[in-house]
Amino acid sequence: MAEITTDVLVIGTGPAGSATAALLATYGVDVMVVNRYRWLANTPRAHITNQRTMEVLRDLGQDVEAEAYLHATEQDLMGENVFCESLAGEEIGRMKSWGKHPLSRAEHMLSSPSHMNDLPQTFMEPILFTTACKRGAQGRMSTEYLSHVQDADGVTTTLRDRLSGREFEVRSKYLVGADGGNSLVAEHIDAPIEGKMGVGGSMNILFRADLSKYVAHRPSVLYWVMQPGADVGGIGMGLVRMIRPWNEWLIVWGYDINEPAPEVDAAMATNVARQLVGDPELEIELLSANTWTVNDAYATNLQKGRVFIMGDAAHRHPPSNGLGSNTSIQDGFNLAWKLAAVVKGQAGAALLDSYTVERAPVAKQIVTRANQSIGEFGPIFEALGMTGGDDIEKIKASMDARCDAGAAGEAQREALRQSIAFKKYEFDAHGVEMNQRYRSDAVVTDGQAEPAFEADAELHYQPTTWPGARLPHVWVFEHDTGAQVSTLDLCGQGRFTLLTGIGGEAWAEALETVGAELGLDSAGHVIGPRQPYVDHVGDWARAREISDTGCILVRPDQHVAWRSDAIVDDPAGELRRVLSQVLAR
Ligand SMILES: Cc1cc2nc3c(=O)[nH]c(=O)nc-3n(C[C@H](O)[C@H](O)[C@H](O)COP(=O)(O)OP(=O)(O)OC[C@H]3O[C@@H](n4cnc5c(N)ncnc54)[C@H](O)[C@@H]3O)c2cc1C
Repeated sequence: MAEITTDVLVIGTGPAGSATAALLATYGVDVMVVNRYRWLANTPRAHITNQRTMEVLRDLGQDVEAEAYLHATEQDLMGENVFCESLAGEEIGRMKSWGKHPLSRAEHMLSSPSHMNDLPQTFMEPILFTTACKRGAQGRMSTEYLSHVQDADGVTTTLRDRLSGREFEVRSKYLVGADGGNSLVAEHIDAPIEGKMGVGGSMNILFRADLSKYVAHRPSVLYWVMQPGADVGGIGMGLVRMIRPWNEWLIVWGYDINEPAPEVDAAMATNVARQLVGDPELEIELLSANTWTVNDAYATNLQKGRVFIMGDAAHRHPPSNGLGSNTSIQDGFNLAWKLAAVVKGQAGAALLDSYTVERAPVAKQIVTRANQSIGEFGPIFEALGMTGGDDIEKIKASMDARCDAGAAGEAQREALRQSIAFKKYEFDAHGVEMNQRYRSDAVVTDGQAEPAFEADAELHYQPTTWPGARLPHVWVFEHDTGAQVSTLDLCGQGRFTLLTGIGGEAWAEALETVGAELGLDSAGHVIGPRQPYVDHVGDWARAREISDTGCILVRPDQHVAWRSDAIVDDPAGELRRVLSQVLAR
């Protein structure tokens, strides 16, 4: 007999597990979340936090979003991505990244009420975890997942209390494995994993040193150091990454994966830091050092019966594009409302099958993109003449040749400019971050064709209300106060929401009726002149892709479930049909 019962047991308090626990607790689901260590992340691995992730935090509450901004380095200090021979040495090139270029910034501002920022994992996890616990999740540290068995009614999980060594059982309706890249839960459900683990070796060196004089005039998260001899495994060169501007840093340095992982002691760490910073006298305060491997693997099925995997357990890839923690949190946003709906009896269990259908393609896409981004450093090495051997003098001469007069020098300079600019697919890939469109039984298109992308889908976000896409953000205005409100703020928060215009009031009334029948928490909003929300600027009319009397039904994760171009004879009948399909009733 299990000692503890709960609706959902989550293994892992990383970004995936903490976000999922916070969302489930917010939706009123009984949830317990465990971590085998005594506290949260002790190294600032993930940091680039994209707009979609910030929208998840905003959905948890504008106080949660505000707390993240409080601890984050703001977007303006993120984007002068520098390529150099060392921080003190010659700069080779630069690209404006993470929405720093004015054209890119405009796209960011038009796409979301939230801002990209740099929030180290050591800050993100406590925000999510404390939100979870404050809202009712049972958080239990020093508690290790060992195994589980599932039957028709639930899952019995064996955990070990690492303080006493005692093993105990938890009985839950569902189990979520958010237990990271070496996931035991994924192993125990035989999750099919494609690709390879351990394709490169990297070490992290976390230290304090005031480097303001080298960087404050070109503020960036990332400084790429390209030195002859630096091209060893891992990310292929030295990276000096800002943790806190400008006195806390993380060096990422490759090692040969075919050799044993090196022991990084204080002397070695200081040497690497001196070499990359380019200051032989530099003194650092070493905070920690560890090694990790670059992976290229994703699960093609994220669930088995009542057990699910998410985050790094499902997608294992290098940090390129900064997608890991972002995607992990977004996995949670996809699964949590579905679990809540099933646990509360509002949906059939088949709704849960849409989790794999919707998120496995994302897992594959981001793992592929992150690994491709590593390969796309190659042309920079080629343009600099850093490839093809370890003759350091020869490499130095090739790098110097870019300063020569004449056709060869000019061609080399152009190749270098182009290869650096091409890295926008890693450092400014707004489409990769924002364009996720779902195709599953939890979305009803009624045969409407997906709009084609008009621009490069990896670089540019393209808003649409086509069912499956994230609801476009525009600002509308509260009639009574004039306050601006994002269309996304009208939706989410665990509810199904319907947006309509003048002449579509019957949709909102129908949702109230059908929502009550199905026991759903729902909200309907009419947008138009003298309505509760007013579209003074006309942005909503341009974004919605339906007529005034039509409606857009939005899922709790802010993705469009269904839309109708105009009012119909029996709005309640239509909503009943659609919601029954989406909720697998
Ligand atoms: C150098 C570096 C830079 C990165 N930069 C970025 C970035 O800029 N942006 C980004 O989005 N991502 C980045 N990432 C990736 C990011 O860190 C991961 O994708 C993210 O941590 C995954 O979150 P997760 O919750 O799935 O797993 P994890 O963070 O690995 O959390 C797993 C959790 O499970 C627990 N656990 C594991 N096994 C057990 C068990 N048996 N019992 C109980 N608990 C268990 C762990 O203690 C932990 O709490 C970076 C990674 C590295 C290494």
